[in-house]
Amino acid sequence: MSKLIDGKAISAAVKQKVAEGVAELKSKGITTGLAVIIVGEDPASKIYVANKKKACEALGIISQEYALPAETTQEELLALIDTLNNEKSINGILCQLPLPRHLDEKAIINAISPEKDVDAFHPHNVGRIMIGDYDFVPCTPAGIMEMLEYEGIDPAGKTCVVIGRSNIVGKPMGMLLLHKNGTVTICHSRTQNLAEVCRRADILVAAVGKANFVTADMVKDGAVVIDVGMNRDNGKLCGDVAFDEVAKKASAITPVPGGVGPMTIAMLMKNTLTAARRQNGLN
Ligand code: NAP
Repeated sequence: MSKLIDGKAISAAVKQKVAEGVAELKSKGITTGLAVIIVGEDPASKIYVANKKKACEALGIISQEYALPAETTQEELLALIDTLNNEKSINGILCQLPLPRHLDEKAIINAISPEKDVDAFHPHNVGRIMIGDYDFVPCTPAGIMEMLEYEGIDPAGKTCVVIGRSNIVGKPMGMLLLHKNGTVTICHSRTQNLAEVCRRADILVAAVGKANFVTADMVKDGAVVIDVGMNRDNGKLCGDVAFDEVAKKASAITPVPGGVGPMTIAMLMKNTLTAARRQNGLN
């Protein structure tokens, strides 16, 4: 049976450090602030935003929520972002995605000042990740790297396979593993012989969005399996990995819930602290 990688425990350790960092800044007279913008009434987005607010409050980060009606115009949203970009007490700005269809997501992301882009979605920060010189990393891949480090799993020289090539998970995940000297393959819906490619992996990251997608026959004995998926199977939250059968083969595995999910919020808090430090001339 594999070792369970406990995202709740690791995220608590990360958050503890963030709380200490926030307190240290406070002792220097510096506040740490995160603005969270939500447009419309998407129920999942509302839950995410509420969780982020709760996490901020627990760590001493000042959170400002901007809940805008679904009919908010592009100009109104851009004007708010411009105000927040120039507001000294706000160190991080996050615009919860997805946005209502009439809004241009790309233009909104590009409008957030790269120094305050704690989601690391702005092309400036994406480019910095490519060259390995970055302050912010998208929270989910950043959380996975933190988990691997905490567990003493070094990607160097290992075969790493990422299933999924989204801008927020798959692609940055591949880059981070590469920066840690993993030999990386990124798979997607057009990949041929997916099971065979996955079976080569020492570290397998599943970010597909399909319940029970990764089965035991796709996993090498002793592999580390990271499950990013957040799916509903008969109403029950589950990942992309058929946990029970894969856990018998893997050396270590993340559960869903309680794996990657809690790490994502913890890394948002960490990015917000980093933003506050940088904006105040601290390393
Ligand atoms: P996404 O943008 O929908 O990307 C899914 C990726 O999976 C795409 O690259 C797609 O390939 C690939 N894919 C789909 N079917 C495939 C198949 N049959 N074989 C191989 N690849 C296939 O999703 P995402 O935003 O990256 O999220 C992925 C999952 O992680 C979702 O369940 C999401 O809810 C979850 N998630 C969790 C967290 C967390 O905090 N735990 C954070 C973010 C996301 P193509 O590019 O070819 O279409």
